[in-house]
Amino acid sequence: MTTVDTAREIISRDPRDGRELGRYPVHTAAEVTAAVEGARAAAARWSGIGFAARRKHLDTWRRLLLRRADELIELISAETGKTRADAQLEVILMVDHLRWAAAHAEKVLRRRRVGPGLLMFNHSATVDHHPLGVVGVIGPWNYPVFIPIGPIAHALAAGNAVVFKPSEYAPATGRWLADTFAEAVPGHRVLDVVLGFGETGGALCRSGVDKIAFTGSTATGKRVMAACAESLTPVLLECGGKDAVIVDHDADLEAAADATVWGGLSNAGQTCVGVERVYVHQAVAERFTELVVAHAKDLRAGAARESDIGPMTTPEQPGIVAAHIQDALARGGSALLGGPHSVRAPYVDPVVLTDVPEDSDALTQETFGPVIVINRVASMGEAVEKANACAYGLGAAVYSRTRGPAIARRLRTGMVSVNSVLAFAGVPGLPFGGTGASGFGRVHGPEGLREFSRTQSVTRQRIRPLLQPLSFRRTPRTMDILMRLVRTVYG
Ligand code: NAD
Repeated sequence: MTTVDTAREIISRDPRDGRELGRYPVHTAAEVTAAVEGARAAAARWSGIGFAARRKHLDTWRRLLLRRADELIELISAETGKTRADAQLEVILMVDHLRWAAAHAEKVLRRRRVGPGLLMFNHSATVDHHPLGVVGVIGPWNYPVFIPIGPIAHALAAGNAVVFKPSEYAPATGRWLADTFAEAVPGHRVLDVVLGFGETGGALCRSGVDKIAFTGSTATGKRVMAACAESLTPVLLECGGKDAVIVDHDADLEAAADATVWGGLSNAGQTCVGVERVYVHQAVAERFTELVVAHAKDLRAGAARESDIGPMTTPEQPGIVAAHIQDALARGGSALLGGPHSVRAPYVDPVVLTDVPEDSDALTQETFGPVIVINRVASMGEAVEKANACAYGLGAAVYSRTRGPAIARRLRTGMVSVNSVLAFAGVPGLPFGGTGASGFGRVHGPEGLREFSRTQSVTRQRIRPLLQPLSFRRTPRTMDILMRLVRTVYG
């Protein structure tokens, strides 16, 4: 948690008890520009050392992160309030993605030959992926390590320098990442951190960076894109989500209920790809709902070490969650577990709602709290239609013994897991990102590496052409022969 003392200082606090964790000066626009200039100088050397040396450095950093993982887990828990298990999972995922980016950058980005085709048969053709230079990474608070490590690791592995602006709710975690990088890789200052609120993020967008990788809310994503438009700085936007789970009549209901409860309530529901809504086939709706309530009813939010659910990280969030619950109930929905009384800031105990109208806030906006809405549907066609009716299109899950992949392919989302929730986030080779109001561009996987490179196509004439159409000295005969050739081969 954070409180603003003056616009010049961030005071980081533990959301569980308001304890002050540290004070950090806010970077001005001039300081942000200076950080980007410093990173640009470092980027030139970093890009020059090549893939193998970068891999070695990133592997050294990974090993250091693992040696000091307990320190990082404590820090994440303190700044966000998340439970130890949630913080551990974040670190485990982070390490795997860092390893993947370092290990695969060369294979994905090295020079590639392309067939020259019929008309340019006398040329060789190659594609290069050059680093962009300096990448600005703007991060959220809900996964202050796992989420930014995607763009940070991929940008660094691709040969760029990074200036990272962590969320104002996790400044110490952001700084810790940069400090450990500097310790592990002392010769290369290619990961710098600037701290601050939205204004500092805006300054990073206008600082002359070669790309912005933003993760946060859709509303802020639009502001980031507008700021980047001024200088045509490319942007990658990882924004909010409203992920649905679809449960078919032949699903393993026990597994689907267990996963729905974990996907909806872990990290106190503050997960971009967390489960917010469920469309369950009417034939199994009653049994599934009973199982969800049975799994969720004994879970408790609190500060104690053994609590299942941590607090809401930001002071505004309990109010948003309460408003969504009240709106759903006022419009005719009913509470199967918990209700408005479950919100006792900064904690929210599990809430399960049903029969909630599709146009209520709890089904159209990101709730970002431990609230699961379960609505029944008559068919999987209806489930897909309702899941796709939402402006967001980040992730989804399908539970079905026989039709999972077929249903998954009909969903308008960037990612789907069949018979599990959130599994796509744990596969480092899979691109991660959304569509619609969830943004565009991808982190993770080969696509995530290419996001941080400039593609350059090069042709080289190997032998003089027998026919030269690309010259004013060409003759009508040359063009006639080529026309005949194209007709014969492609006609
Ligand atoms: P947020 O939009 O409030 O802030 C995100 C970051 O943007 C912060 O660092 C903030 O300081 C910065 N910022 C704010 N205003 C800015 C501006 N005008 N210009 C530049 N930067 C600015 O989001 P949040 O509350 O920190 O994070 C939660 C949101 O992030 C949720 O919507 C969640 O779904 C989303 N999220 C998405 C993904 C994904 O991969 N798609 C992952 C995690 C979180």
